[in-house]
Amino acid sequence: MLDVAINHAVVIDTEKSVEKKINIGIKDGKVVLLTTDTLIATRVIEAKNLIASPGFIDVHGHVDGYAYSGELSACQGITTTVGGNCGLSPVDIADFFARQMRDGFVINQAELIGHSFSLRQAVGIADPYRQASPEEFAAMEQLTRTALQAGACGVSFGLDYSPGASFVEITALANVCAEFNRVMPIHTRLFTQNDLYSLFEVLAVAKRTGVRLLISHFVYQYGTGIMEEALQIIDQAIENGIDVKIDSGMYTDWTTFIGTATFDEQTIADNEMRFSDMVVASGKYLGKRLDRELYLKMRKHYPNESVICFMGNKAEIYTALKKSYAMPSTDIGTYKKGEGHPQIAGSFPKYFKEMVKERGDLSLIEAVTKATLLPAKTFGFAHKGVIKVGSDADITLFDFEHLKDNADFPDRGKPDAKPTGIEYVLVNGTLAVDQGGFTGEKAGRIIRV
Ligand SMILES: [Zn+2]
Repeated sequence: MLDVAINHAVVIDTEKSVEKKINIGIKDGKVVLLTTDTLIATRVIEAKNLIASPGFIDVHGHVDGYAYSGELSACQGITTTVGGNCGLSPVDIADFFARQMRDGFVINQAELIGHSFSLRQAVGIADPYRQASPEEFAAMEQLTRTALQAGACGVSFGLDYSPGASFVEITALANVCAEFNRVMPIHTRLFTQNDLYSLFEVLAVAKRTGVRLLISHFVYQYGTGIMEEALQIIDQAIENGIDVKIDSGMYTDWTTFIGTATFDEQTIADNEMRFSDMVVASGKYLGKRLDRELYLKMRKHYPNESVICFMGNKAEIYTALKKSYAMPSTDIGTYKKGEGHPQIAGSFPKYFKEMVKERGDLSLIEAVTKATLLPAKTFGFAHKGVIKVGSDADITLFDFEHLKDNADFPDRGKPDAKPTGIEYVLVNGTLAVDQGGFTGEKAGRIIRV
């Protein structure tokens, strides 16, 4: 007897780029049968009018074992999340994986080792503006090697958060990452909002080391009126043989901790950012716009609370995500209920609704492939990103006609409002979302690369 049968869905075959009406049989966490016969099973899902997609893979998240972020991810159709981004990760990856396995988790978790906060702190660098010494390089290289041996899927950087990180420092870790043939996601170092040099810097690292690059939340970095030029630089780099991809969410307004270098007075001045364009995303002042007084108070007393910065050109989201090398992502953080940025709950439904249904930038098959198979191939996640016999039964069933994000910024609405239209989400054959409701099942696995 099958564990689960999904009957009458339209199944997206991401490898052959076709849609087909075929029924899916699942046993022991795997797809075991694809047939036109109607299937019976312990649990039968009647999926007429639903699309069956491989579960979405979020290449840029900060779920990192936090239960509510796992729930919000599952509810937007994500079955695998890549954590440890922007240079912020656990340092002991083996221990992180062991804890996650012991406690169980709702979705699959892959993890990066993070340079800019985590490795730097681990070797004793407290000042983000300080360059690492040769001894500190060596110590970071060793920690990176250990993490990659433990199955971390790459090395992440958040260069905005460690302005002191030199080219030599980045290159040293890129070499280790390249040696393991893993991915290097980089949140680039922006000196101003129009800084394309930051892109040349990371491409130079890739050229020198051969590392496979993924430039993080590309629209947050370059969606400020310079997207066309930024994408031309990437196109050119690819033509020159550099392996580079980008990811982006569906928003231009980024968020991070108020205490980071990104919100230093000088950075704010250099970028001509205005306090009135910033809204508090967590804690006591949730939903409040900043003014100078609140800014100073939060920097001093609440450095770990998040603030959203409204900026950017919305049209550039679509320009970026249309690129064949672009993947959708959330940049989800860890927040309490009712807090956060709408990206934590709305990103993937918004991507399909706006780019496929409303604008026609992508076909449904293209959009699904960029959210599933492309990330699986990029990171080397075997048996994912595809629905075929033998693949992991990570499947998202959604109602394309009614798919809709409901999350909004905290000064206007609920940032964690769950979307409409994500009806069923299976993680390794177990329902994490059932008839649109979160089940709390913990069938996620850790993914060691
Ligand atoms: Zn980042």
